[in-house]
Amino acid sequence: MECPGCHFQNRDEAIFCNEHGYKLENICPNCGNTNRLGSKYCDKCGNVLTITPPKIAKPPPSLPITHRSRM
Ligand SMILES: [Zn+2]
Ligand SMILES: [Zn+2]
Repeated sequence: MECPGCHFQNRDEAIFCNEHGYKLENICPNCGNTNRLGSKYCDKCGNVLTITPPKIAKPPPSLPITHRSRM
């Protein structure tokens, strides 16, 4: 199963992304049914699933170390 956030290929049974810990399953807030990733509607009760976009903390650009502490 591919992570929608970072496109990391996780195992099909994966619930959380191996790469950045995003939850890969859509749990229906109405009935608690676990739907497949990317489902827009619950396949059990038909409730609209709100898709929360995965939050990825962008790593800051690696800055060259210019100021070394003097020995
Ligand atoms: Zn991910
Ligand atoms: Zn449901």
